[in-house]
Amino acid sequence: MQPLEVLKHFYGYSSFRGRQEAIIEQVLEKKDCIALMPTGAGKSVCYQVPAMIFPGLTLVVSPLIALMKDQVDAMNTQGIPAAFLNSTQDIAEQRYISEEVRNGRIKLLYVAPERLFGGTYPLLDLLRKIDLSLVAVDEAHCVSQWGHDFRPEYLKLGELRRIFPKTTFLALTATADKQTRKDIAARLQLKDPQWFIASFDRPNITYRVGLRSDAFGKLMDFLSLHPKDSGIVYCLSRKSVEETAERLTINGYPAIPYHAGLDKETRQSNQERFIRDDVRIIVATVAFGMGIDKSNVRFVVHTNMPQNIESYYQETGRAGRDGLPGEALLFYSFGDSITLSRMLEKAEDPVYVRHMKAKLETMVRFCQTRECRRKYLLRYFGEEYPEECGNCDTCLQNEKKEDMTIFSQMMLSAVVRLEQQFGLGHVILVLRGSQSAKISDWQRGLSVFGIGKDRSTEFWKMLGHQLITEGYLHQEDPLRPVVKLTDKAWNKLKGKEKIFLSMEKEDFRKGMGQGEK
Ligand code: ADP
Ligand code: ZN
Repeated sequence: MQPLEVLKHFYGYSSFRGRQEAIIEQVLEKKDCIALMPTGAGKSVCYQVPAMIFPGLTLVVSPLIALMKDQVDAMNTQGIPAAFLNSTQDIAEQRYISEEVRNGRIKLLYVAPERLFGGTYPLLDLLRKIDLSLVAVDEAHCVSQWGHDFRPEYLKLGELRRIFPKTTFLALTATADKQTRKDIAARLQLKDPQWFIASFDRPNITYRVGLRSDAFGKLMDFLSLHPKDSGIVYCLSRKSVEETAERLTINGYPAIPYHAGLDKETRQSNQERFIRDDVRIIVATVAFGMGIDKSNVRFVVHTNMPQNIESYYQETGRAGRDGLPGEALLFYSFGDSITLSRMLEKAEDPVYVRHMKAKLETMVRFCQTRECRRKYLLRYFGEEYPEECGNCDTCLQNEKKEDMTIFSQMMLSAVVRLEQQFGLGHVILVLRGSQSAKISDWQRGLSVFGIGKDRSTEFWKMLGHQLITEGYLHQEDPLRPVVKLTDKAWNKLKGKEKIFLSMEKEDFRKGMGQGEK
């Protein structure tokens, strides 16, 4: 059968998407390939279709044991002879599947990397005895220490390439920065691989980032614009998952929780209810969503800053897989980076910690940027986006700036009077003339003490946030809250120039025209 016939016959799709056809062509020519495609682009088809055409076995290496059964079940219903081998099966089951593989009755075999070299039944011996046509390494970024999800077992996969010189290798991933890309080719020891780098742009997703103060209120505003839509709300902890799900439900937005602390049945059933659209909103820790195939997710909300851009992009990528408009909404606070940084410090390997902190810093800068969000994200993935996207909060807000010179001068002076040694929270206490014990006597004596008491804390937070994002204030160390004036701020102050800022609360309606139903 030809690739297109296979696609039609087993999947019922009428044509290939994006680079699928080109990748399949190269794989069938027995060329090693690396495919970088965003989530939802359809990576599985790239090895499943060749698997049905090649005479021998296609081995799929994936770290996601939990998903194997679902994937394999789905394929079996489509009439594809697929199976998996992993630690959840008993010996008899494993032996049976091995036998089926040996007899050539299985075309696609899914395994976790550790299963290849170790365990009671090293799979390697079996693979040596059969015709192994293709090895697909899914989530290939796991091979790189520079990736965000390094798995030491993946390093051994390089040996496979050596052991099976006649087999074709296809590495696939949805997330890889430049360094990780190089690493994938080197560590998997691919032979002069063909690269397929799909654009990571998801033009139908609107990116928005806001401060977390009154996040729940903002979330309610946002949800009121999506009364019939399905979405994922990510929280950092199990506790906040539970609380948020409950609060949403009480407020008229039925939502169910998902996190690793729930028993397996509840987790499974909640996931299914969400996929079947019985419940529109699932509140989850990042444990949720790996490999979930739900195309009509309309929004993904993060109630905390993710650890790095890769995770953020992967999670937000779950919105709008059907190509219709999707929303990615992120709430963060200045404290998030500090919490996350402390969590990272618990890891033992100092190189790893340093590396992950650098990634976290890029995430912090993303939250604080005044640049088009899409530009920023795509540049991170090595792509130039030539113009402003018109579909992110920055682009949508750019027209709405007002003269904030007086208030900006107050805040900037307060920062200077406090010798540029404090975070915004403290600066605001001083501006508002707070009686808090945090304010020492010398600070009470400053000329700026209390000059901003007519305005709310909320107002000042917004102003401070805008001064940061517009490049007047700068956190030298993004993992500490201390702010300092930038050259831009000094020049403006010296030149008595006006400062224009956009002070409107997030307006989720803006730019949502296409999304409304
Ligand atoms: P990825 O692994 O890249 O995130 P999947 O392989 O899970 O993506 O595919 C995402 C969705 O797109 C699936 O529902 C899949 O069936 C569908 N899909 C893949 N290829 C095509 C195609 N050529 N035409 C239509 N739908 C496709
Ligand atoms: Zn933009």
